Amino acid sequence: MAKYIGAHVSSSGGVENAPLNAHQIGAKSFALFTRNQRQWNPAPLTAKSIALFKERITEYGFAPQHILPHDSYLINMGNPDEAARIKSRDAFLDEMQRCEQLGLPLLNFHPGSHLKEISPEQCMDYIAENINYCLTHTQGVTAVLENTAGQGSNLGFTFEQLAYIIDRVEDKSRVGVCIDTAHTLAAGYEIRTAESYATTWEAFDHIIGYQYLRGIHLNDSKKDLSSRVDRHESVGKGVMGMDLFRLIMNDPHLDDIPIVLETPDPDLWAEEIALLYQMA
Ligand SMILES: [Zn+2]
Ligand SMILES: [Zn+2]
Repeated sequence: MAKYIGAHVSSSGGVENAPLNAHQIGAKSFALFTRNQRQWNPAPLTAKSIALFKERITEYGFAPQHILPHDSYLINMGNPDEAARIKSRDAFLDEMQRCEQLGLPLLNFHPGSHLKEISPEQCMDYIAENINYCLTHTQGVTAVLENTAGQGSNLGFTFEQLAYIIDRVEDKSRVGVCIDTAHTLAAGYEIRTAESYATTWEAFDHIIGYQYLRGIHLNDSKKDLSSRVDRHESVGKGVMGMDLFRLIMNDPHLDDIPIVLETPDPDLWAEEIALLYQMA
């Protein structure tokens, strides 16, 4: 099977529960938080949790490169305030170290926000600087920039912005990109027809390059093209239309990477995954 569809499952009660939750919905990949994403100082992973997590991914047949941990939403590595930025950098480093402990090669994150206090370029320079710092202090984990909807002062909503950050990362082998379909549409990239889908991915390949693509967040959207508003919807219930999902499921560029649902109703995930596999 060339497509690895999953969902952002709960790790409540411990990271070791995530593979179990993913297995129960028929997922072949999954995303998770490796810590309580609402706290600045979460408890470290226990040796028992780490061992059980590794045991279960083997048991249920998940490959580490098909698991896409998501960082805490508190983190803003482009924060204009120096103390806040360092706090974010250290929290991101902690997240990367958790990935190292779990044997996971990817960490997905939203690039950062300028909070209308500094220029986008200054903000992206800070983000790249902090990625470099965290990569220097870890091994084997790739920082995966997610494209955003461009809501508020969030950066990373254009392919050019993602390329700007990648350009400034020293170790190109450990930086990547995750494309969120709802964010892509909200940011102004049409993807809902075969033609527009192809045009948008051509732009992606030209500006960033497929070699950086590490994952997909597969979401329908409540908000339309160029809304710059980030509101996910369940598959087929938003403005996306089913063609997009068929195009994704039959796109060979998206083979062998995690394709993760972040759709709002966990009760539908098993059905959504089954439906998507029928389209392949
Ligand atoms: Zn996403
Ligand atoms: Zn989103």
